[in-house]
Amino acid sequence: MQRNHDVIVIGSGVGGGAVARRLAENGVSVLLLERGDWVPREADNWSVGSVFHEKKYTAHDSWLDGRGEEFRPNIYYNVGGCTKFYGGSMIRFREEDFGMLEHEEGTSPAWPISYADIEPYYCEAESIFDVHGDDGGDPSAPWRSKPYPAPKLMSEPLVERMADTMRQHGANTSALPLAVDFGPKGHCIRCKTCDGFPCKLGAKNDAETSLVRPALETGRVDIITNCYVQRLLLSADGKRIEGVEVKRNGQVEVLRAGVVVLSCGAINSVALLLRSACDTAPEGVANGSGVVGRHYMAHNQTALMGLSFEKNDTVFQKTLALNQYYFGDGEYRFPLGHAQMLGKLQGGMLSANVPFLPKIVGSTMAQHSMDWIAFSEDLPDPENRVVLRDGKIQLAIKRNNLKPHHRLVEKLTSLLKKAGYPIVLVKPLIRHSTSHQCGTVKFGTDPATSAIDPYCRSHQHENLFVVDASFMPSSAAVNPALTIVAQALRAADHMLKQDFRTTSQHVA
Ligand SMILES: Cc1cc2nc3c(=O)[nH]c(=O)nc-3n(C[C@H](O)[C@H](O)[C@H](O)COP(=O)(O)OP(=O)(O)OC[C@H]3O[C@@H](n4cnc5c(N)ncnc54)[C@H](O)[C@@H]3O)c2cc1C
Ligand code: SF4
Repeated sequence: MQRNHDVIVIGSGVGGGAVARRLAENGVSVLLLERGDWVPREADNWSVGSVFHEKKYTAHDSWLDGRGEEFRPNIYYNVGGCTKFYGGSMIRFREEDFGMLEHEEGTSPAWPISYADIEPYYCEAESIFDVHGDDGGDPSAPWRSKPYPAPKLMSEPLVERMADTMRQHGANTSALPLAVDFGPKGHCIRCKTCDGFPCKLGAKNDAETSLVRPALETGRVDIITNCYVQRLLLSADGKRIEGVEVKRNGQVEVLRAGVVVLSCGAINSVALLLRSACDTAPEGVANGSGVVGRHYMAHNQTALMGLSFEKNDTVFQKTLALNQYYFGDGEYRFPLGHAQMLGKLQGGMLSANVPFLPKIVGSTMAQHSMDWIAFSEDLPDPENRVVLRDGKIQLAIKRNNLKPHHRLVEKLTSLLKKAGYPIVLVKPLIRHSTSHQCGTVKFGTDPATSAIDPYCRSHQHENLFVVDASFMPSSAAVNPALTIVAQALRAADHMLKQDFRTTSQHVA
């Protein structure tokens, strides 16, 4: 391993992976620190029992909720972070999400950058992840300067029939943009174990396959796995990160580089910043404003199962999005949000989540269901916080803006009934849902009200960047990964220019 690196990146998910790849491809050397290990390719990857019942790949963390009760978060510590298990939906935030949006319960604030600022990076992120898409039928789709790099994935017949019926009732569905290696030369077989599972074939375009491995191939990146970052150490004047204290193989050591990029996820990045409190930063590193850990958001989310007497033999189900009501439904003038199909639910996945559900009932239901998930925007409340209690992560949150979410769920329920699914089961995924965590180290131009600047550089510590979803001042209502990648690429280009006096070869 090379001894001196220009940059240390902490966390190998989409945020850290994108920065590592971009910097390395432009001549900068990077040391990537990851607390987990590589996810092995093995039969268990596609086993419902291993993934959902044994939770073989889920982190063994114990966190506290607002009442102080322990729970095991649905989070993953491995190379590639949560995207090893994601559904591959790589969808842009809407142009309006970057401005101020009124909701009945409050305001979703404007971002310090516009959609036009990030649009070229969305194109690059889509190209890196080879996103399959088509905006036809999506009334909320933002403008784009380049077409999708790959054609949309076609829906299977039963899903297409449901979309047709929904269309007849005035609701347009559209293709869900997806990051899988599908096509004449691709390795994706469009199986039923994608959403929530790692890909046994390595055909899901995730942070490992699309960012970390290409970064390593440059020869300028070293990765240390099973390397837990405990603290960031400040210089005497508090202006710079002087060292990164890690624990590995039972030993504590300090690693150093000129620039430090933090991307541990919106909860763990906060934990690290708060753990690093010292005399010069008594409230935690980068926390002069006091916003670190505040404004936690994760979307209001509900899973829906439309049940019919007819068997659903769809294998790859996750192909449709419903954005018809993203900004309102005509009668209700506030944004409702977005819905997308889930990967095909299987009986074992239901019994893992619903206690006492007999296996036979679960599998019969799953064989007859169409499965959706609805997301609506939650608002950034400063009292919704990630804090440390006796060193343990505590997530103290009170959900907000639920009315439009309930309305969206009602709309989708009614559409499913009209499409031939007379029984619709709904399961709110609200308690402890961390999959779309964001907002906790928000970016902005004012150091009094934000922790990092519009390029994700700490206002207080000139060589520190935070590039996971914590930068987001609002959550929008679609999945976050593509936006994390786009902003991380943008931040990396800024580092190249400002910190390394070079320009990106991949001009956005
Ligand atoms: C089941 C599931 C399905 C999802 N589906 C989608 C989807 O279809 N589309 C979408 O856009 N989003 C989806 N998401 C959300 C998406 O995966 C996340 O938004 C995204 O992966 C976050 O990336 P990140 O780099 O910010 O953080 P992470 O992916 O959490 O990566 C952080 C990395 O940092 C490491 N780390 C943490 N703390 C430390 C430390 N102290 N020291 C060293 N390393 C550390 C972790 O091990 C991890 O590898 C899904 C999430 C889940 C859980
Ligand atoms: S659908 Fe394709 S990418 Fe997803 S797990 Fe199956 S083979 Fe892998």
